Amino acid sequence: MATVNLDIVTAEKVVYSGDVDIVIAPGREGQLGILPHHAALMTTLSAGELIARKGTEEFLIAISGGFLEVLPNRIIVLADAAERAEEIDIARAEAAKKRAQDNLSHSASQGESALAEAALHRAIARLEVAERVKRRRKI
Ligand code: ATP
Repeated sequence: MATVNLDIVTAEKVVYSGDVDIVIAPGREGQLGILPHHAALMTTLSAGELIARKGTEEFLIAISGGFLEVLPNRIIVLADAAERAEEIDIARAEAAKKRAQDNLSHSASQGESALAEAALHRAIARLEVAERVKRRRKI
């Protein structure tokens, strides 16, 4: 079966590098499914969940926004921040969510509320990815 090479990197680290069957990414305009031999593409990403599948294996990664580029049989994700599901500190994300909600309700300017909203979306993406993996482990 055809595969496509996926690299997910941040300024700090390589989060994922390997061949996969499909990538489902949180595109700015909605979920984006990318199979091997997809046409060239460059797009921005929202905070959300990125899923990479290889055979029966599935990797879940929380993405905090960034860019995705599709090259001939290669996908590069340059993420603002990204964590594999098992790396996510749930208590930290819950605290960040609460802080962002408080900041959102007390924000004095559009700039402050935009920052709080972005922080809220990052925290929600982390919690959703962590929750999904926890649910799976129970099955
Ligand atoms: P916080 O307020 O908790 O720092 P944040 O959304 O402001 O959250 P970022 O600026 O997006 O954090 O990320 C800073 C670094 O911390 C990145 O390396 C990111 O991967 C990591 N990080 C942030 N939140 C978590 C978390 N809940 N679990 C694991 N790593 C995290």
